[in-house]
Amino acid sequence: MTTKDLADLIFPNITKTVADYEAMYPERELPEGAKVTRFAPSPTGFMHIGNFMSTVIDYVMAKKNGGVFYLRNEDTDSAREIEGAVEYIRHVLQHYDMNPDEYEYRDTNETKGNYGPYIQSERKDIYHAFIKHLIIEGKAYPCFLTQEEMDSIRESQTRDKRRIGIYGRYAKYRNLTPDEAAERINNGEKYTIRLKSQGDFNKKFKFTDLVNGDMEFPENDIDIPIMKSSNLLPTYHFAHLVDDHLMRTTYVIRGQEWVSSVPVHYELFKTFGFKMPKYVHTPLILKKDGDKIRKISKRLDPEARMTYYEEKGYPILAVIEAIMTIANSNYEEWRDKHPDAHFTEFEFSPKKMSVSGALFDLDKLDNISKNYLSKLKATEVYDLLDTWSKEYDKEFNELINKYKEYTTSVLNIEREQKKPRKDYASFSEIKGQIWYMFDELFTDVEYNFDPKFSNDDINEVLTTYFNEYYNEEDDKDTWFNKMKEMSEKLGYCSNMKEYKENPDNYKGSVADVSNIIRVGVTTLTQTPDLYIILKLLGSERIKTRISKIK
Ligand code: GLU
Repeated sequence: MTTKDLADLIFPNITKTVADYEAMYPERELPEGAKVTRFAPSPTGFMHIGNFMSTVIDYVMAKKNGGVFYLRNEDTDSAREIEGAVEYIRHVLQHYDMNPDEYEYRDTNETKGNYGPYIQSERKDIYHAFIKHLIIEGKAYPCFLTQEEMDSIRESQTRDKRRIGIYGRYAKYRNLTPDEAAERINNGEKYTIRLKSQGDFNKKFKFTDLVNGDMEFPENDIDIPIMKSSNLLPTYHFAHLVDDHLMRTTYVIRGQEWVSSVPVHYELFKTFGFKMPKYVHTPLILKKDGDKIRKISKRLDPEARMTYYEEKGYPILAVIEAIMTIANSNYEEWRDKHPDAHFTEFEFSPKKMSVSGALFDLDKLDNISKNYLSKLKATEVYDLLDTWSKEYDKEFNELINKYKEYTTSVLNIEREQKKPRKDYASFSEIKGQIWYMFDELFTDVEYNFDPKFSNDDINEVLTTYFNEYYNEEDDKDTWFNKMKEMSEKLGYCSNMKEYKENPDNYKGSVADVSNIIRVGVTTLTQTPDLYIILKLLGSERIKTRISKIK
């Protein structure tokens, strides 16, 4: 029996060869400098900020030079698959407007691209052809170690402080003859397929990671499993080789945790004689916790999950901007020079990533977001608020829709000017800042009048103002002059300087008067421009509010 016979025994129905697949998925014809990147999540968890950072980098690197960004569903671990994870990934990509150029969505039967299937569980035949090839070449073999045997090998290696894995003398089935292997298979013995490693742990090879720079690793000498016996799908390492080769990925952007797998991947690509893609191992995302800095955690930190940003209602470009800022050390400088450029115009340089970790900071995101929102037109903010609240605050959504124009004017207070206000970082904060403009929300209120004024003082100011001075049509100067006039009339000083010099001569100042009015109509001591607030509220609302204060 030859290795070819053994390979046919294991994969009787696999007739296509590696060469056939090479021809089916030729090198891509792309413009000079174009990169092919992919987001390759396992649907075993919900998308977190680390995945998101990789995706943003995938997207930016592909878009800059007319390349391809594709999505590959790495669903080889069906036991750990979480329902809805794939749909959520798709949703996030859509939400952030980073739709892949090539993809396959099983739920809607949609697919695009010539390099699919893009779902690993649908690629079994392709993997088997590659595994078959290795068996024929004598570079992979069926291994009959039982779970108990492997456990005991691991125990003894741990005890003796040896490297963990099936290599050297532990790889006791690597030299079975095809006849011996076939006999066991025919007897129904369970097996996995392992790589017959040709590496020598005592030899080193050089490898360049685009983030970590030049690195040196010992060669892999472990006979890693390449096919899972449970579902006959490939292990991650083998799927990485086959998929990133056949899909013609040029840049693999993935988490730091994969750096230690480089020797295995190096050997796999070498075994097939394939060119390795370039690697960008993205740093861990860190956060400040008291005076410590630690890895961001899905369990401890709500902001580690992508759901957080949508629930809070952060604008998508602010979140991307915050990620770009920590992903590339010269991004902020570029942004200063190109304030209006789209982030995909940035030339992402993996060298400018931090090896030790990227520090993510919600305050920074808030700042970016406040700035971003402050530059939008009121109508744009309205539309975004409408979309967000439809999903996360239905009641408020109904309210802003009922008063669409009014809400837009409220959102426009001190906006569309040279130095616009920067009141909110997310859509969930808006209601808390403009609630008092809506009678529907102006219930069970508590007023923050300055305790130095009696109820009579307060009532006097409010009633005098609205009965004698208030006129909806007044322009700002007229309004302000009236405030001064009324102040004098009621015994408050209209000139602040004078008031500071002789405070005892007055009940208070014009500032006190306007604050009584401010609190009277909003309950708050601090608001944006009172003149505009009064103008927008209009006489009906104001009259009702004043009449309720006793
Ligand atoms: N499926 C792997 C993961 O989710 C992908 C790693 C990679 O991008 O190669 O961790």
